[in-house]
Amino acid sequence: MQKVYDLVVVGAGIAGCSIAYTAQKENKRVLIIDKASTPATGGSGAAGAFISPKLGIESPLLNLTNLAFGYSSNFYKTNFPKYFDQSGIVRLPKDAKDAKNFEYYKSIIDANSKILTPDELKQFGVKSQFDSLYFRDGGVCDAQGICKVMVEDVEYLQMELSSLEYKEDNWILNSQIEAKNVVLATGYIGYKDLLGYMGINGVWGSRGDFYTNSDIKVCMHQNISVSALHNGIIKIGATHVRSKNPCMVCDGEPLKGLIAKAKELANIDELTLKETFCGMRSSSRDHFPTIGKIIDTKYMLENYPNIKKGYNKAPLKHFKNLYVFNGLGGRGFVFAPLMAKWLYAHIFEDENIDSKVSPDRLFLKWARKL
Ligand SMILES: Cc1cc2nc3c(=O)[nH]c(=O)nc-3n(C[C@H](O)[C@H](O)[C@H](O)COP(=O)(O)OP(=O)(O)OC[C@H]3O[C@@H](n4cnc5c(N)ncnc54)[C@H](O)[C@@H]3O)c2cc1C
Repeated sequence: MQKVYDLVVVGAGIAGCSIAYTAQKENKRVLIIDKASTPATGGSGAAGAFISPKLGIESPLLNLTNLAFGYSSNFYKTNFPKYFDQSGIVRLPKDAKDAKNFEYYKSIIDANSKILTPDELKQFGVKSQFDSLYFRDGGVCDAQGICKVMVEDVEYLQMELSSLEYKEDNWILNSQIEAKNVVLATGYIGYKDLLGYMGINGVWGSRGDFYTNSDIKVCMHQNISVSALHNGIIKIGATHVRSKNPCMVCDGEPLKGLIAKAKELANIDELTLKETFCGMRSSSRDHFPTIGKIIDTKYMLENYPNIKKGYNKAPLKHFKNLYVFNGLGGRGFVFAPLMAKWLYAHIFEDENIDSKVSPDRLFLKWARKL
């Protein structure tokens, strides 16, 4: 073992690629490992990767999501313009009642937005009876392309992490790689012993890429998303199914409902399926990302058994220099760039992590249920 990495990232989805990219840019010695030979084979490879704001009543989650929306759209446009189609995104009301809220939604989101009338929407290829909200900065990423390009200058190793030991101030991965800091960005699968208290759930999704001649000029979202036409293709997604086991084969069946819905939203004549994508989103219970130091739960339960009965004064003990980057749910491409910035500052610049995203918020609730 000659090299000691400043950072080893486990998992090359959008979470892992974003933190690896951020650290590499700051001249850290970084290695990214994944059990697959290329990035984006997990949930990130399946994603439609729409960059869209969150609409609704003002809340901490809405504010964080929309902060991340502004940050990510600018990040992709500046750093990876070839992989980000910033055609704008229209958010369509579900019904007349929903439409009445759109002026309010507009007023609470700090983004470049505009109400469009049904006639204006028609020119973009969008069908709607109601005024809708257009965000110029939104768009859609090439999910696999963006993950790959982010880590093109980062050392990459195909390897499944099977052991992690802390020895003499460094982490040793699979008895062969030595690192000062390790980030587990492993998505839905893995590490229940270390990460179980975070309660990450799997939400299965399918989506499709379709050939079409229909000239859709803008991305749109109601309860599904349809992209603008790009190189003769539109993306339609996605289904949401709570699931424990990833389905490994997909025959396109789940897409039938999506196609029918897309034709209601957009002026689409014909569609020919190019490819189906399926994958697991990893979601936290409160829908906030889960980013930061990992608690040593075994130590905590052995030393403070009353935690199970509600004792909440015990000082939390974290593993040294071991971090998680997970729980990005259905908005991995929206959250990842900002969360990577925060995580980098936490690891290398001693900045505190925001308590809304810190895994600490999940520990006591979990312990009380044991
Ligand atoms: C159908 C669908 C549509 C979506 N649409 C959007 C969208 O429009 N906009 C948006 O922002 N988000 C979208 N998402 C959500 C987004 O894809 C996820 O939030 C994102 O993929 C999470 O990324 P991740 O890096 O955390 O996990 P993943 O992409 O799953 O990456 C985890 C990686 O860890 C690796 N790994 C796991 N265990 C190990 C191990 N032991 N050793 C080595 N490697 C390991 C895996 O191989 C994998 O590559 C969608 C998701 C799906 C499924």
